[in-house]
This record gives sequence, structure tokens and C-alpha cells, in this order.
Amino acid sequence: MLTGRRYVLDFTPEQAEFAERIGGACRAVWNTALEQRRVYRRGGVFIGYHDQARQLAEAKTEPGLEWLGEAPGHCLQQTLIDLDASCSRHGVWGVRWKSKTAARPSFRFPEGGKICVERLNRRWARAKLPKLGWVRFWWTRPLGGPAKNATITRDGQRWYISFLVEDGIDPPGRHARPDTGIGVDRGVAKIVTTSEGVFHHQVFATGREVEHAAKLQRDLSRTRKGSNRRRHAARRSGAFKAKIRRRREDFAAKTACVLAGGHDLVVFESLKTKNMTRRAAPKPDLDRPGRFLPNGAAAKTGLNKAILDKGWHRIEQAVRAKARYTGTIVITVNPAYTSVTCHRCKHVDPKSRKSQAVFACTSCGHTGHADVSAAKNILTAGRAEPAPPRPGVRAGARKPRNRVGRKANRQATAAQATAHPEPALAEIPRL
Ligand SMILES: [Zn+2]
Repeated sequence: MLTGRRYVLDFTPEQAEFAERIGGACRAVWNTALEQRRVYRRGGVFIGYHDQARQLAEAKTEPGLEWLGEAPGHCLQQTLIDLDASCSRHGVWGVRWKSKTAARPSFRFPEGGKICVERLNRRWARAKLPKLGWVRFWWTRPLGGPAKNATITRDGQRWYISFLVEDGIDPPGRHARPDTGIGVDRGVAKIVTTSEGVFHHQVFATGREVEHAAKLQRDLSRTRKGSNRRRHAARRSGAFKAKIRRRREDFAAKTACVLAGGHDLVVFESLKTKNMTRRAAPKPDLDRPGRFLPNGAAAKTGLNKAILDKGWHRIEQAVRAKARYTGTIVITVNPAYTSVTCHRCKHVDPKSRKSQAVFACTSCGHTGHADVSAAKNILTAGRAEPAPPRPGVRAGARKPRNRVGRKANRQATAAQATAHPEPALAEIPRL
């Protein structure tokens, strides 16, 4: 199966600076190419990867664009390929810009044949990449197979290298422990409660750490845009958030290992995260009707997301990833009434839920832990679902594209293109 391996890089200061520049060039290519696609689309025509790649090659020789030629050509091309894939999946209006400050630099070397990986000693290994040369990384686990490509990313102040490898393991036909289904209820008091009555929980940030994060955020908001102090404050805040993120990632991986490793069926409730994330209440401006005062919504939302997030979605993703190796079937069910239904007699009554933790049926008198009861109902609902197809071989297999594909687009725009053989191309940004 195709799988990913990620390692912490040990760049020299020059390499880190160069990687930052490559990331910047890829971001510029992404944004310009996206704008070009949008302008074309407004003009009723289509531009695809091949035209854009040709223009990119021409642009590299233009004066003033030497920085473009400095970046590895394959990384820039890969950016265009990624953009092409995103656009055919979400449409040109559904793809987002890469912001200079918010987006983390990321670029991919698509040619596995050109990447040479060498083990140096017990702790270190190195990989040779076009233009970057030998880069050293911390050897935390074996690669497990030949690398098909390599992606360099930065998270906070840390650079990572991840390889796509073919590990040669076939997906199992069935789980080693058949008929061991489990229902999973995700909550706040306990992050994961299973139908077997087991809780998986971890505090990702202590009270003091939450205070510290708020202080870092405050420091950041008091600096001027573009100043050196802001850059340093953003770096401190980003590093802290990255630390919390790593803890969450670790918890998700460990929980997924237990859930998928021990059970042939894992049932989650489908999450409507949009409804669950609370926003700061709008503050109307009493002097000017219809206007609103700043309410700190952006800061609050950002902080809540980074520090207080329980990572519910990430746990599901981790279980699905693990399930490819264990043969577990993962499904989601509608969560309606799972927390107010009696598991024994199926009586539905909101009054049965006495408190956050206690469930006592108003009909049959059955009592138990409220979350465990909900998890049991989730498992029952999951068992009632028709059996889904076996876990796929490919990770992140794409949905078949229909309406937004290149062909569909050509068909849709063909009539217009013939009606206006020369659309206004004057404003189209050049790569
Ligand atoms: Zn009951």
C-alpha cells in the first residue's frame, strides 16, 4: 500500500532560507495560476495545466523573474499539477489562495528516482534533493520501501520531509478479530467514549498553558503589522500552537491504534462541526445602527481552534488510515437521538439524560453512563446500516469527477468560445 513517512529535517541556516524561498516561489505560482484560471473562466474560456506549464517555462527566462528560475523546476510544475487537481475537484472558485503569513510553505519533489536516501548512523539519515543538495533528517523509523516522492513542509519553526513510499503490504481481506464492533462517542468531558465503557482522554493544554497561549496571542495583537516584533511574536505563538498540535496528533494516532487494532467495525457519529463551533457573539454599535463593534471573534476563533480543539475529526481520519492495515470497516451514522435513547428499551426521552454523565431511562429504569449509552446506540445504528465496501487500497481515493472536470468544462464552454473567438485576454496576468 502507498503510505507516508514523515521526518524532522535538520536544515543548515542556508538550506532553511533557500527552502523558504522555494516555498515562496511555489506560493506565487499557485496564486498567479489560480488568478489566471479565474480570469479565463470569467472570459468564458479554459486554461489547463499544459498551457500554464509552458507559460511558466517561458516566464523563467524573463528579466526580473530570476527568483523563479532559482527554485527547482519540478516543484513549480508540481504546484501547477496540484492546482489543476484542486480546480477539477472544487472548481476555480472553490480553491483558496495561499496567504503569505497563514499558509505554511510546502513543496514536492515528484521524481522518486532522483531522490537518494542514505542512512548515516543510528540517529541520522540524509536525502539528496535537486538544488537543495544533501539534507539531514532525524531517522525515527525505517522508510519501509522505495520513496516515490518527497514533500518538504514547515510547521511553526520546524521543517519536515515526508516521503510517499510503497511499503509492499497488501490490505488484509478481513480483520484478525471478526465480530468485534465498537461504537464511539466523541465529546468534550471525555474525548472518546466507547460502547465497551472505555474512555480515551487527554488534556492537550493545561490551564497555565491556555493562559500562556492567550498571553502570546495578546502580545501578537499589540505589535504593528510588518514589524520585527510582530514577526518574533508570531514565531513564538506559532511554535506554541504547533506543540499543542503535536500532542493532539499523538493522541489521535494512539487512540486509532487501539480502536482499529482491536475491532473489525468502528462506528462514529457523523459530526456537524460547523454547528458545534461557537463564534463570539456580535456586538452591535449603538451609535450607528447596522454597524458592529469589534468583538474579538477572529482572535477567539483562532485561539479556540488551536488550543481547545479536541481533534474529533482527526481521530476519525487516523482510524481510517489505520483501518487500511487492520481490515477494519469504519462508518459514520446520524447522531440524532443517540444521547437520549435508552439502549435497553429504545425509549426516546430527553429527560432520561439526567446530567452530562448520568443516563436513567424514564421508561424501564435502566441506568448507566450517558456517553457509554450513546456509544452503544451509535454501534446499534452502525450495525443496522448496509455493509459498506471493503476498505480501499488507495489512501484518499478520489471521488469520480463529473461536473467540474476538464472535459465537462470544455463541453460547457465550447459554444461560448465559438461565439466569441477572441475573448478579452488583455488583463490576464502572465506567469
Ligand atoms: Zn429504557
